[in-house]
Amino acid sequence: MSFKEVIGQQQAVTQLAAMARSENVPAALLLTGMEGVGKCFTAFQLAQVVNCCQAPPGDACGVCPDCRQIARRVHPDVLLIEAEKNQIKIDQIRELHHYLGFAPLSGRFKVIIINDAHLLNAAAANALLKTLEEPPGQIIFMLVTHRQQVLLPTILSRCISLSFKPLSHDALRQILASREEDIEVKSMDRAIALGGGSVSKTQYFLDENRLAWRDDFLARICALSAENFEDIFALADEISKDAENVEVVHYVLGTFVRDALILANSSDVNDLVLFHADQLELLRKFAADRTPEELVFWLEELNRLQSRLLFNINIKLAWEALLMKLVALQIKRDNVI
Ligand SMILES: [Zn+2]
Repeated sequence: MSFKEVIGQQQAVTQLAAMARSENVPAALLLTGMEGVGKCFTAFQLAQVVNCCQAPPGDACGVCPDCRQIARRVHPDVLLIEAEKNQIKIDQIRELHHYLGFAPLSGRFKVIIINDAHLLNAAAANALLKTLEEPPGQIIFMLVTHRQQVLLPTILSRCISLSFKPLSHDALRQILASREEDIEVKSMDRAIALGGGSVSKTQYFLDENRLAWRDDFLARICALSAENFEDIFALADEISKDAENVEVVHYVLGTFVRDALILANSSDVNDLVLFHADQLELLRKFAADRTPEELVFWLEELNRLQSRLLFNINIKLAWEALLMKLVALQIKRDNVI
């Protein structure tokens, strides 16, 4: 049990284990790294390690009442705070302050895990800051995020940061084998390539329907032209109708353009690690139809839109504008020729 359960994050786990062994865990930790690499899972392992009533410091037994309750996420001293409707609100932080007013009930430490901490809204972040400035004793905060740049600098400066790396293909295979049964090697390899080091993304792309969606989406992106703006409006409309899908759309298009850029600058495709290696023909065509500068422009525009998504923009209008801008590149080039 404990940190041995965490696969593929040797560096972060070694640091955490050393802190726990010396009984010197900081009052506020920031666990960063892309989605689906085990940050929140590791936070719960640390909660066990600091509260286990049987194992020596730095370890957890996994069988004592504290360990078992933490594993089931029902321990009275371990609190997980998560976003409700894409925001962590001030009421949740007010409840937290009330919760912190009492000493640990059963364990040695109260452990507060704030998952997706970048979703703290401004009022909640400011309320949390006050607690981080003067943390009461016997409390460990763990802020988990894949977008630390969105957090207030004043919050970041109060946390000790630990970074989690994208998982290797071997680590992903090991994790998937323990969670899923009978996955075909071909499906697993394709999902691992698309997952880019994240368990959640890899699992997402194990689903054949989602792969079919990706194939269709990329084919439509490649076919967009200045002659038919109707396609742009239809595509933007579809993207905006499924809020959860918006992130996936960004991911799929961003990785596809990135692959095209790498392909355009390489002589030997066998040396490349591509997300969409199974769509090589489409990638080649997409790369051949554009200059590297245009591909860079696509990536910049996608990044710009992604950072604006945090501000409740009108997704349909934003995607219409983006796609028209990208198609306009083509018109400009055709006119020059
Ligand atoms: Zn234990």
